[in-house]
Order: sequence, then structure tokens, then C-alpha cells
Amino acid sequence: MVLDDLGSSLRGTLDDLRGKSRLDEDDVQAVVKQIQRSLLQADVDVDLVMALSDSIKTRALNEEPPGGTSARDHVLKIVYEELVELVGDSTELPLESQTIMLAGLQGSGKTTTAAKMAWWFSKKGLRPAVIQTDTFRPGAYDQAKQMCENAEVDFYGDPDESDPVKIAREGMEATSDAEVHIVDTAGRHALEDDLIDEIEEIESTADPDRSLLVLDAAIGQGAKEQAQRFEEAVGVEGVVITKLDGTAKGGGALTAVNETDSSIAFLGTGETVQDIERFEPNSFISRLLG
Ligand code: GDP
Repeated sequence: MVLDDLGSSLRGTLDDLRGKSRLDEDDVQAVVKQIQRSLLQADVDVDLVMALSDSIKTRALNEEPPGGTSARDHVLKIVYEELVELVGDSTELPLESQTIMLAGLQGSGKTTTAAKMAWWFSKKGLRPAVIQTDTFRPGAYDQAKQMCENAEVDFYGDPDESDPVKIAREGMEATSDAEVHIVDTAGRHALEDDLIDEIEEIESTADPDRSLLVLDAAIGQGAKEQAQRFEEAVGVEGVVITKLDGTAKGGGALTAVNETDSSIAFLGTGETVQDIERFEPNSFISRLLG
């Protein structure tokens, strides 16, 4: 990791340590304080920030720097390793036939993400199809159909059908030629019990290999309850953080990752089908600290 990626204030604090061969408690405290400030500003949960701070402090003060390593480089390495531990690796996504179900609140970006992921898989040489089961939100069908046309991927939906479970069943059959099935589900403003019942039924019908929880980068600490409920209902294998092109840094989503013992799969960075990135720890860390 290059130092430029660390954010200017942290870089400044680390540069103050230049020339030192040993770190004292005040040095480590200054670095940790800087990291805490950035992460809390990025909406990372305070307990996660405290746990990370403790690990950095303990390691920086107790581990001997390998011979020839300056105190600054030693603490930098520890900071980097602990941040990678915090954000995790990207969710494993084999490039093979599979069914992926998307869950999340209304407005989180599920429908957009479904089309984006289909586009992403098509670029990897697989044939994807999006199955739109959101019968709740007016416009979801047209939006999904249009985006799938833009992405040039198969699409199944039925604007005249009100039963999402039936759409899921018929959609899986109608798109049996596709290799990757992406099943979009309805979100609601809050986690109502009927949404949970519905998504459980869609899950048993579509039988996904993995379910991804779609979260708006601005979600903040609300992520915890959402994550717990979806984890209980369908099991969350990975998280997609959307709207990272806005001002929010997406640190709240780390709570969901932690809560579900999962990882981050994709990042959404805009409104068009190409605006999707596979999660990559280094650049996400830079974003959190920047
Ligand atoms: P759903 O209700 O979860 O299906 O959410 P939608 O996919 O309809 O997204 C809600 C709104 O957020 C729409 O206006 C999308 O264009 C927008 N949106 C989704 N993902 C992104 C993103 O990564 N960046 C930006 N700027 N807007 C997004």
C-alpha cells in the first residue's frame, strides 16, 4: 500500500514519526486518534473502531519491528494489516453458474444493482438473467427491464402478476438458458414481518447459492438491525454498498459485514449499469480514511 492512500492527516501524523527508531505510547496514541477520527466520520461503528484501536496499540507497542524497519514503517504496516482485517476480503464469487438473491430496504439500490451485476457477469463471459420479483414498488418492473436492456442481458418480470413467489418460480423456468440468475426482491421502508415472510418464500423457490444484502452507503448504524433480520431470514453471504459516488463513505455497512460474519462483494458507484466495482480492500480503506 502506498502512503498516499492513507489520507493526508494520517500521513502527516505518521510523517512526524520519521527518524524515530522506537515508538512510545504518545506516538501510537496520536496515530490511533487520527484513524479513529476518520473512521468515525466515515460512519464506522464505534465498537469496531475501539476494537481496531486496541489491536493497533497493543501490536505497535509490543511487537518488535523487524531489523532495519523504522518505527514509522512498523506502525504503518500494523495499521494497514488491522484495517484490512476490519474491512475483510471481497466475497468469493466463482465465475460459474449460480443463483444470487438480492435483499435490502426499498431505495437501497437493489434493482439497479441486479442489472449492474448482470452486466458485470456478462463481461466475465457468463450469460446472466435478472428476475424481477418486486411487485410492491410501482415502477420497479419498468426500471429493471430498461436497465437490463441497457446492459444487454436477459430479463424476466411480470407486471400483471402480484405474487412474487410465482414470478420467482416462473422466472427461473423462463430463464433456464441463463447461467447466472440474479433475483431481485421487494424492499420496504422498514423491516416488516411480511417482507421477511415473502423473502423466505422467494428464497425457498429460487434456491439461491448466495444472498447479498444491498446497503446504501449512507446507512450508518441502522445497518445493524437490517443485517441481523436478513441474516436470520435468508443468511447473508455478502454485502453490496451502493451510492459510493456520493459523499457517504460506507463505513456503516461494515457493521452489517461484522454482524453477518460476511464480506463485501460489490460497490455501486453511479446510476448506470457499468457503475459497479468488485470490492477491493485497499481502495475502500483509502476511501474510509480519505
Ligand atoms: P431498490 O428500491 O432497492 O430497488 O432501489 P433502486 O435500484 O431503485 O435505487 C434507488 C435509487 O438509487 C435510484 O434512483 C437509483 O438510480 C439510485 N442508485 C442506485 N445505486 C446507485 C449508485 O451506486 N449511485 C447513485 N448515485 N445512485 C444509485
